[in-house]
Amino acid sequence: MAKCDKCGNQFSWKEIFKKNFNYGEVTCATCGNNSAITFPSRFILTGVTIVPLLFFTITMEFFAAGWTNILFGLPAAAAGVCIAPFLVNYKLAD
Ligand SMILES: [Zn+2]
Repeated sequence: MAKCDKCGNQFSWKEIFKKNFNYGEVTCATCGNNSAITFPSRFILTGVTIVPLLFFTITMEFFAAGWTNILFGLPAAAAGVCIAPFLVNYKLAD
């Protein structure tokens, strides 16, 4: 899980989870410095959320139509959103 570069305080899953949606800055509860998501982490974030959604949407087209895509795609994307905070990195904002 991402930490504050300044004081080493570990951000909570919930803090990062919320900020991942809008690429917002996490404010450190200990030292008050802001940290922003790193550029490579944006790709990780896209990789674990949008890609599974697209994958299921596209592949399921061959097997069944309609709701099946959503049935598999959404939980896959939701799982990605939940694990994303463990994978992304944050660095001190300018
Ligand atoms: Zn800090």
